[in-house]
Amino acid sequence: MYTCGLTVNDVMHLGHARAYVIWDVLTRYLEYLGYEVFHVSNVTDISIDDKILRRVNESNVSFQQHVNRYTQLYLEDRLKLGIAPANVHPLATQHIQEMIDLVQKLIEKGFAYETDDGVYFRISRFQSYGSLSGVARDRLEAGSSGRVSKDEYSKEEVGDFVLWKKSKPGEPYWHSPWGLGRPGWHIECSAMAMKYLGESFDIHCGGEEHVFPHHENEIAQSEAVSGRPLARYWLHVRHLVLDGGKMSKSTGEFVSVRDAVEQYGPLSVRVFLLLTHYRKTMSLDQDVFKTASKHADKLGALWAAIQHFSVKGQPFPQTGEDRLLMQLSQSRSVFEEAMSRDLSTPLALSAILKLARETARHLDNHGSISKDTAFMIHVFLKTVGTVLFGDLVASELEQKQEGVFKDLVEFAVEQRDKLRSEQKYNDADLVRKRLEGLGMVLQDLSGSTIWRRVHRGNRESQG
Ligand SMILES: [Zn+2]
Repeated sequence: MYTCGLTVNDVMHLGHARAYVIWDVLTRYLEYLGYEVFHVSNVTDISIDDKILRRVNESNVSFQQHVNRYTQLYLEDRLKLGIAPANVHPLATQHIQEMIDLVQKLIEKGFAYETDDGVYFRISRFQSYGSLSGVARDRLEAGSSGRVSKDEYSKEEVGDFVLWKKSKPGEPYWHSPWGLGRPGWHIECSAMAMKYLGESFDIHCGGEEHVFPHHENEIAQSEAVSGRPLARYWLHVRHLVLDGGKMSKSTGEFVSVRDAVEQYGPLSVRVFLLLTHYRKTMSLDQDVFKTASKHADKLGALWAAIQHFSVKGQPFPQTGEDRLLMQLSQSRSVFEEAMSRDLSTPLALSAILKLARETARHLDNHGSISKDTAFMIHVFLKTVGTVLFGDLVASELEQKQEGVFKDLVEFAVEQRDKLRSEQKYNDADLVRKRLEGLGMVLQDLSGSTIWRRVHRGNRESQG
């Protein structure tokens, strides 16, 4: 599987994150089904325009330092959202030779030609050009092919796209048979995908903005050389929009993953991104964020209860647990059906939330869950939950705390239980409030108290 990664000019925004979270869910679901996935996701660390060059000059760092910094932040932001690293994250700057080789092959086969300012792909030679996007060749107009700049006057046909750009003074460059310059964006993905996955592989993913021209051009470049289909399946995530407009850096409408995680916590952000099917346009709506926070809190409460009763529950299933077990098996089958139907994450998510609601209802009525049942729900959350929430199941939901920290909270909870049994309710309340102030939420059941840590954003949404 190949996914188009970030152009590391700035920090990741939620529109990018939507795509990366969806591809993470896809990878994990394929693995859940028993497939072995080899995932390659590039880092575009060569994207040079005037704006970036100006920023680099102003910030007094080298171009390389600038992209290194944003590459680091990009990989950090992925981890924040529980996204598993791909098997390879190839950097464009480390694969210049592979790109040059590919361009040379295209020239040899007559699919590319050199001009004064670069090397171009001759789309008239590639008969099936436009088959992915449905863009007709004769309707290509100047400027419509994305990153092709208006000063690329020297090409034969308006739709021809650049494979290698000869550098102007002051621009970063690499050596090539065509003099100093840099590769075009599209050749980067063709060269790296083919290096790590071969001439033909299973799945290629990207955003809807990639369909044309980026993926169309990738197909042309790769298939002109190999004569084989580049990928068997293409998946594209639709845009995340703000007030009806596309979310992008150029319009200044830009919500970074960092800011969103800081405000709502990683799990709420991930749940938010899964609430809309990937082939539907999604809008950045505060109300939907609040809903996501509530869902994340329900999931946190479910985990806290399951962890508590996995240790402290009665050994065998108790009265009323048959209904809970029935919901468990129903949730698993609804989840699988939803995911197998073109990754319906909203439905899959609702299947897990239904189990959370049924567990809460059971605890209200019966006050406890047996160890056996808690263990089965635990396994469900570790498998099904991990498909949707990734590594956040371990880091955010399980809340693996340091031993002393956990012991101290449990000591405080025990002391409070003691005060309550002595009917010193005011003192007991004081302990609860102090713990809440530190981000610990207590839930009293008949016979025991469960505690969990909640993110600041979720605490606010509860209030
Ligand atoms: Zn790409």
